[in-house]
Amino acid sequence: MTSIVLSKRLKKIAEYCPAGSRVADIGSDHALLTSYLLASGLAAFVIAGELNEGPYQAAREQVAKLTAADRASVRKGDGLAVLAPGEVNAVCIAGMGGQLISSILESGKAKLPGVQRLILQPNVGEEAVRRWLLDNRWQLIAEDILEEDGVIYEILVAEPGDPLAPYREKARSLEELLRLGPWLWEEKSPILRQKWEREREKLKAILAQLAKSRRPETKERYEQVVKELDWIEEVIRCLQTGKPSFNT
Ligand code: SAM
Repeated sequence: MTSIVLSKRLKKIAEYCPAGSRVADIGSDHALLTSYLLASGLAAFVIAGELNEGPYQAAREQVAKLTAADRASVRKGDGLAVLAPGEVNAVCIAGMGGQLISSILESGKAKLPGVQRLILQPNVGEEAVRRWLLDNRWQLIAEDILEEDGVIYEILVAEPGDPLAPYREKARSLEELLRLGPWLWEEKSPILRQKWEREREKLKAILAQLAKSRRPETKERYEQVVKELDWIEEVIRCLQTGKPSFNT
């Protein structure tokens, strides 16, 4: 077996691929996830999709080195356009912004029938991805959060189903859970707390800048940021104490 050294983040993503599945690794870059899925025997077949020429060539070279190269196909193209309908049953899209992941899913909708699992790892903008899943009848079945080299990553896993299921009968509103992550909120890990503590620091810096401004139009923005900071403070208190909410 070819040994592939993988980051903690990509390893976690691989763990969410059902054993023996046919996987699409969209935006594969150097095809590391593709290679690991094949070399470890986790996937039966992997399609690595890449939009850009440089990473596409890198992916081809990487896959050619594998003993399992005959179980891979490296394709150049935009998002899910590289797939034929029904070709894969799991799709991974990792290491991009949440808006880009959502737009790849939106424009590739026709390729999704037959796909049983989406494994999505937005670097930022997780809320946009949760919203897309909700609007398109994908049920969030798991979420993960991890820290690697000082960066916090979230992984969202979805299957066709009842998209509202993880949001029902919760102490917090749908809108709040779309931001927090319904499963991450259930788990309340120390890493989630770190994430929101970092958000608080960013907002405090913005507030300090706004406080220096004498322009009248910044007043409204200042008030918005104060409100947002209050919300984050309450979120952090819940994460410190394990309470679902201090408002109910
Ligand atoms: N998925 C890998 C990971 O998580 O480590 C690589 C992430 S890399 C930061 C993002 C890759 O997505 C780049 O190689 C980029 O060229 C590719 N990409 C960006 N937009 C794309 C699209 N619409 N379709 C396919 N690939 C895309």
